[in-house]
Amino acid sequence: MKAFEWSAASSVEDAVKLLAAVAADDPDESPRPLAGGQDLLTTMKDRITRPKRVVNLKTIPGLDRIQFDPAGNAKIGALVTLHQLESDAQIRANFPGLAEAARSVATIQIRNLGTVAGNLCQRPRCWYFRLENVICLKKGGSQCYAATGENKYNAIFGGGPSYIVHPSDLAPMLLALGATLSITGPNGNRQLPLEKFFTTPRGGDLTKENVLADAEIITEIQIPDSPLANRSTYLKFKERSSLDFAMSAVAAAVELAPDRAVRQARLVLGGVAPIPWRVPKAEAALIGNPLDDRAASAAAEIALAGAAPLAQNAYKIPLTKALIKRALTQLKS
Ligand SMILES: Cc1cc2nc3c(=O)[nH]c(=O)nc-3n(C[C@H](O)[C@H](O)[C@H](O)COP(=O)(O)OP(=O)(O)OC[C@H]3O[C@@H](n4cnc5c(N)ncnc54)[C@H](O)[C@@H]3O)c2cc1C
Repeated sequence: MKAFEWSAASSVEDAVKLLAAVAADDPDESPRPLAGGQDLLTTMKDRITRPKRVVNLKTIPGLDRIQFDPAGNAKIGALVTLHQLESDAQIRANFPGLAEAARSVATIQIRNLGTVAGNLCQRPRCWYFRLENVICLKKGGSQCYAATGENKYNAIFGGGPSYIVHPSDLAPMLLALGATLSITGPNGNRQLPLEKFFTTPRGGDLTKENVLADAEIITEIQIPDSPLANRSTYLKFKERSSLDFAMSAVAAAVELAPDRAVRQARLVLGGVAPIPWRVPKAEAALIGNPLDDRAASAAAEIALAGAAPLAQNAYKIPLTKALIKRALTQLKS
């Protein structure tokens, strides 16, 4: 690990000042906020990230709370851990899919330390990206080695020129629930729908996965209490049953009318694209129909229609279809 300066922030404003105070020409050397450290420290040990300064956010009071306003909207502090999320009674009752997504992450030890904002900002798990000596496209190199190399775990949607998949289990579910982020930076505060947070390799800076500017930090995640919220689920397929990242995952949320027809639907795929991948045509196909096997199968076919698999990952197409069907079937009862 490269030597770095350690600072402990006393407030959000202090954290932003500490992050903004150190200039770095190389983006991999920019100061970084540290939450649970589960991902940042690994990338530092592997020299993928070499920040000149690390700013500990865990010393900021008040960012570790889950709160609900009288209308039932949730406000989740950036430092809330995945374990807090999965075990909070009101989250489990009002946003069951979110509790399931949190519970699907790794092990209890990792969920005890890993935070919500850190989970959204974690770096990709592509083998080539994680290998210290491989300078792939995302690390400023000229080639995505996964495109023609080992690509079993890589993208079937939204790939090119890089084929990473986004590793977060919370991201697809939070997107399905219509979450918004509160962000603070040197230019003040901003609110950003999660839908606008993640960037595809083609649509943004290739070396990043989101639109956070230098010295900006996420302070809170808000989730509206919509009619979709309590009929939500998260299904994840992983290669190892113990702990693993998603080979494919589905976040689904629906609102049913009194006649049981679908009034609203949100379907977001995980583990298949560089960003959580919403499938609006499949959502639209569900509207107005009863949530039966036929509707679920039709939505699954539509959702995967545009997939462009690489040499080793076409299995993700039938796998993801099966997850969509299973998730929708679960939500009808
Ligand atoms: C063995 C292992 C298995 C895992 N399996 C899974 C899995 O199956 N599914 C899954 O979703 N995740 C998985 N993870 C990832 C784990 O959930 C994340 O590493 C963790 O949630 C990151 O949270 P953290 O608080 O530790 O973040 P950190 O490691 O502290 O930070 C991660 C990144 O986020 C940035 N950051 C942190 N907080 C903020 C903030 N408030 N604002 C802006 N930027 C911020 C940091 O600068 C850093 O770039 C796994 C991790 C390990 C080590």
